[in-house]
Amino acid sequence: MSEEIEHVKCLIIGSGPAGYTAAIYASRADLKPVLYTGMLAGGQLTQTTEVENYPGYPEGILGPEMMQNFEKQAARLGTDIRFGYVSSVDFSSLPHKVVVDESKTILADTVIISTGASAKWLGLESEQKYNGFGVSACAVCDGFFFRGQDVAIVGAGDTAAEEATYLAKLCRKVYMLVRRDEFRASKAMVHRVLNTPNIEVIYNTETKEILGDGKTVNGVLVINNETNQETKLDVTGFFVAIGHHPNTEIFRGQINMDETGYIITKPDSSETNIEGVFACGDAQDHIYRQAITAAGTGCMAAIDAERYLAAKEHVVTA
Ligand code: NDP
Repeated sequence: MSEEIEHVKCLIIGSGPAGYTAAIYASRADLKPVLYTGMLAGGQLTQTTEVENYPGYPEGILGPEMMQNFEKQAARLGTDIRFGYVSSVDFSSLPHKVVVDESKTILADTVIISTGASAKWLGLESEQKYNGFGVSACAVCDGFFFRGQDVAIVGAGDTAAEEATYLAKLCRKVYMLVRRDEFRASKAMVHRVLNTPNIEVIYNTETKEILGDGKTVNGVLVINNETNQETKLDVTGFFVAIGHHPNTEIFRGQINMDETGYIITKPDSSETNIEGVFACGDAQDHIYRQAITAAGTGCMAAIDAERYLAAKEHVVTA
């Protein structure tokens, strides 16, 4: 049951690059933002190792360290950062009602949703053991570390096809593990995969175990699901590309989203179909999913929130 009620101008839900960038801009616009971090404070980047493609870090930076920097910058500029999990929302009237940890109610004039997305994993113990040490769910983020090496990628959708061709440019050989006898990806993407000489597609194949020396990956054991024949592939990298799910479950029924749960924003804007509610980062982006694009849309959301509040104030005082 809700016990405490607090009224804020700007509530930011989520603490990845989108949320913290929104917080930095909202703080500087004097919106006095309150940011709830969610359970995984810092978001997906806290689960990666080195980040080499975020501009401004010429030597690269560790994902967790980068997120600490985001947090420090938002805090220095005045964001009220709180550890807590939004358990439900009610966007049916203004101000919007958001319940945190099932106990505290926040009334918010604007809400910025930056809850991100989570990669889907196969669910193998060895996959988690070597996550960040040869196992990755983002070829664009981590492919560079495997240049000149042999890698495997699992998945047969557009993401897997796109990431396999990306990896093929860097790596010596890419094994693409497809669990059925056909792709799910679009014809154009499949065509590209099949015409890349150093990609070997292995159909009807599932991953049994990711092998390693205790520190890093040195192979993958796969099984043909028709013949039950097991094969060991000598790879140093294992990429999982079986989809992502946006962390938007708590908003279902409250806001427009596509059939997979990505929040729909208006073109060239972070506005949603709900007045005063803005969305940014991976919660609304299934295409780019990069820290830099998330940060960019976080900036957009804060500016949109600021302009929305300014326009309302203007109407009230006019
Ligand atoms: P999808 O859900 O489209 O595909 C997931 C793939 O992973 C499927 O081939 C599925 O196999 C496979 N898979 C799922 N679970 C397992 C498992 N346990 N073991 C092995 N394989 C598994 O996800 P995507 O991320 O590829 O795409 C999401 C959406 O984004 C799609 O609509 C896609 O079109 C879009 N997209 C568009 C792009 C573009 O236009 N450039 C780029 C990337 C994505 P199966 O087929 O057997 O179910």
